[in-house]
Amino acid sequence: MRMTACLAALTAGAIATTAQSQEAVGTHLGHAPAPAALSAAQRDADLDRLVAVYPDFLAGRQGDMLIWRDGTRMSTSDGRPAKTPVEVVASPDIQDIFAWPYPLASQPATSPSADPGRARPAAFFRKMYGDCHAGQVTANLVSVRWVDGTSVRITRVNGVATALAAVVAELKALGPAYTKYLSPMGGTYNCRTIAGTSLASMHSYGAAIDINVANSDYWLWADAAAHGLGAFRSRIPMQIVQVFERHGFIWGGRWADFDTMHFEYRPEIIAVAKANAGQR
Ligand SMILES: [Zn+2]
Repeated sequence: MRMTACLAALTAGAIATTAQSQEAVGTHLGHAPAPAALSAAQRDADLDRLVAVYPDFLAGRQGDMLIWRDGTRMSTSDGRPAKTPVEVVASPDIQDIFAWPYPLASQPATSPSADPGRARPAAFFRKMYGDCHAGQVTANLVSVRWVDGTSVRITRVNGVATALAAVVAELKALGPAYTKYLSPMGGTYNCRTIAGTSLASMHSYGAAIDINVANSDYWLWADAAAHGLGAFRSRIPMQIVQVFERHGFIWGGRWADFDTMHFEYRPEIIAVAKANAGQR
């Protein structure tokens, strides 16, 4: 089913992208299950975890409203009920961040059917990291030494650079057998929208990193002859995913439009996944 949809889209030229494009939103998502509605208690618990992991910016929550430290009140709901999977990714509100449960690295990498973490409400993330098109992101980029000694530029906002430095220390401790998945690094800051959309990538906030492209798999690059167009494949050892998750980064290998080189700082998703492990 997935394969058919993908072939049809490509034949029709519906996917306008290049081999360099990453994180494209493809036709897989249209076949993902609609996200289950969260109970009010679950939604409140998720939002409280969101507040807890962004202490530099968020002061608290009143019902559906986030209270920012600068006094801003931001609604977590756009009032639209029962969004389709495509709508959750294309026009998310803050509650949609938690639309699909994120499977932690303790669960095997199997073909994903949903897109946990791909709902990124722009007003929320822009307020923290800035708008790259207005030159607000680069001022916060700092250098972190990558596992191979090269330097990567990543935002210091929300302690992302500190978190990445901790990731690097643990990745190095995994040993040289893992280096081929990590080096050369595929990129961090990039002021661009997600291929074929007007959606901001976490790369545009300086809060994402791609590991070695050569040993990664991406749904748009998947070799049709070898394993079916767009069919899920991952060569990334889950130990690497585990290290990133320990420091608040989610993995693109969990997306229906999989992107196994991609990690982005989303501590709210990790916090909720840990809290809900085995519960939903
Ligand atoms: Zn990426």
